[in-house]
Amino acid sequence: MTWEQRWHPLREEWVIVAAHRQTRPWIGKTVEHQEAALADYLPDCYLCPGNARVSGKRNAHYTSTFVFDNDHPCVGSDAPPDVAAPKGIYRNRPAIGVSRVVCYSPKHNLTLAHLEVFEIAELLRVWREQYIDLGRRNEISHVLIFENKGEVVGVSNPHPHCQLYATNFVFKTIETEARVSQNHLAETGRILFQDILKSEHDDGRRIILENQSAIAFLPYFARYAYEVFVAPKETHASLETLTEAERLELAAVLKCVLIKFDNLWQMPFPYVMALHQAPTDGGDYRGFHFHIEFHPPLRQPNLLKYLAGPEIGGGNFLSDTAPEEKAAELRAQPDVHYGQARREGKP
Ligand SMILES: [Zn+2]
Ligand SMILES: [Zn+2]
Repeated sequence: MTWEQRWHPLREEWVIVAAHRQTRPWIGKTVEHQEAALADYLPDCYLCPGNARVSGKRNAHYTSTFVFDNDHPCVGSDAPPDVAAPKGIYRNRPAIGVSRVVCYSPKHNLTLAHLEVFEIAELLRVWREQYIDLGRRNEISHVLIFENKGEVVGVSNPHPHCQLYATNFVFKTIETEARVSQNHLAETGRILFQDILKSEHDDGRRIILENQSAIAFLPYFARYAYEVFVAPKETHASLETLTEAERLELAAVLKCVLIKFDNLWQMPFPYVMALHQAPTDGGDYRGFHFHIEFHPPLRQPNLLKYLAGPEIGGGNFLSDTAPEEKAAELRAQPDVHYGQARREGKP
């Protein structure tokens, strides 16, 4: 039983862990999940190779990854450059920036969990390239790369892809992480994320897996039941300075986490994944440690974590589960994807 408040050092906020009031536990019955066999190519998918998109533009006949400008950007070069100033205390500015889509694979029916480690490493290389290329532009202060996966987070097209917003501002969470990381460095001479990694290693109960240079853990201060951080062990402010070997090992850990997610309830596991990289606005980010955060919205197969009074009304999270237990659950999952196990006739 865990009933306490835990400090989130990267966000500077309390998380209420109230895992003592277990609601009905999930008894492990098989989920009614119809996994219709998807074709690897769909003529009407706007992400499949060679297909036309709503804009009329046609996708390349790509064979690995494919990057294109979002046809419905939320920030873009076409945003009105001159916006009328509001009255009073309010301020505004043009919504300039770049929105892009990155397709992971030409195959419509794959997810990140299904890609080979070398293919995920190639994707990391593409993300790095985008971060450097866009981040170097004067008007870009930050590059946010994220994937929304699953209908429960609003994605209806299963074709594996992520999005990228290169913006003229720094997203709030990154701004906070960057600030507290620099403060920690100035006050202690240490990297905040390294202190987190050390605390996770010292405890050990929340580590999902690790190899020589990369690690996955469900942090002490997790806000979501199955929140997982994946990171290189050495401090890099972004993907820019990772070596090829580090990218490969990070890809291996990522793949294994994704397989464990899917294996948990033997269904494609929905999540929001975000790459937290240092801003590109020219600031001092030596204290920043690049990491990938997974925020899965489900607590149980058909049970969403609803954001309500504490989260939306008050701004702090209330968690009904103990990170130590959820980490143990994930760690216990096999490293072979259930889909593959089924195909090979294993239970
Ligand atoms: Zn497709
Ligand atoms: Zn973060």
